[in-house]
Amino acid sequence: MEVTSPESIAAAVAVLRRGGLVGLPTETVYGLAADAENELAVRRIFAVKGRPSTHPLIVHVAQASSMESWATSVPPEAHRLASAFWPGPLTLVLKRSPRASDAVTGGQDTVALRVPGHPVALAVLRAFDGGVAAPSANRFGRVSPTRAEHVRADLGSDVDLVLDGGPARVGVESTIVDLSGDEPLLLRPGGVPVESVEKVLERRISRVPGRKIRAPGLLPSHYAPRAGVLLAEPGGAVAKALALAGNGRKVAVAVPEAVEVPEPLVALRIPADVDGLARELYTVFRLADEAKVDVAVISVPGEEGLGLAVVDRLRRAAAPRSS
Ligand code: AMP
Ligand code: MG
Repeated sequence: MEVTSPESIAAAVAVLRRGGLVGLPTETVYGLAADAENELAVRRIFAVKGRPSTHPLIVHVAQASSMESWATSVPPEAHRLASAFWPGPLTLVLKRSPRASDAVTGGQDTVALRVPGHPVALAVLRAFDGGVAAPSANRFGRVSPTRAEHVRADLGSDVDLVLDGGPARVGVESTIVDLSGDEPLLLRPGGVPVESVEKVLERRISRVPGRKIRAPGLLPSHYAPRAGVLLAEPGGAVAKALALAGNGRKVAVAVPEAVEVPEPLVALRIPADVDGLARELYTVFRLADEAKVDVAVISVPGEEGLGLAVVDRLRRAAAPRSS
């Protein structure tokens, strides 16, 4: 893992203060960070990503007590979830205070907040002493970066500084729980298993978004590599890939090391456990593109624990593309 020096933390804070963009390591994926209270800087995020300006951004803060300044009312559930999972891969959606601008919330009356669990992100947030808007540091609709070199490769000079915090430990985006309405809602499965959220709240929460919200992560096709992604039943990936291979089509199959991969398939190796799969998933998408395959076949894991987030990302990667 790279060592990030105090000088580079200070340099990142200086970039944020002057309205620039920083590639920021978090435990979920690398973020494209800007001062959440600088409207021009926030607009730059949207421009660089090519993200529609009505899609809201998550505001990252250094500590849970910041909820009181970004939200008008902080329900007891928010405090319980924050003390259980922050710093960590959980985002809470609350009624916004005037501190959260239309630019950052996409004009919605809510704000999304998270205290990230990566030491470099936390060091930057503490030194910056403000909110940092940070969607994933990739062009809109494409694969989220889980290493500093992914950010540089995707965004080049559009990002002013990239901090290297090593490979992301979780590998999929945060779990988003909306606490702004009468019922807690799961807006996106992610790095905290929904079962763990339910345990703390001592209630079941609906896995289906209960109302329409503008959320890029909820588009049918998202998080997608250039290669086509095809889902297979557990144990069925190699057979499905073999059936597709030939006729000039280059086909990859993503399976654990123990599974034999016959010619002419390209083998993409994935961890056998679901937490490992979450961590490596976006890297596997990138490897499929580097190998210039037409299609990558992967088996769908069970939906327990991080499996729910992995299945969600796989379905979106496999969804029909509009372009
Ligand atoms: P990301 O694409 O990882 O930056 O996550 C952004 C996601 O956070 C969006 O897709 C929404 O699901 C959620 N989100 C962010 N801000 C808000 C908000 N103000 N209200 C509701 N959801 C939000
Ligand atoms: Mg993203």
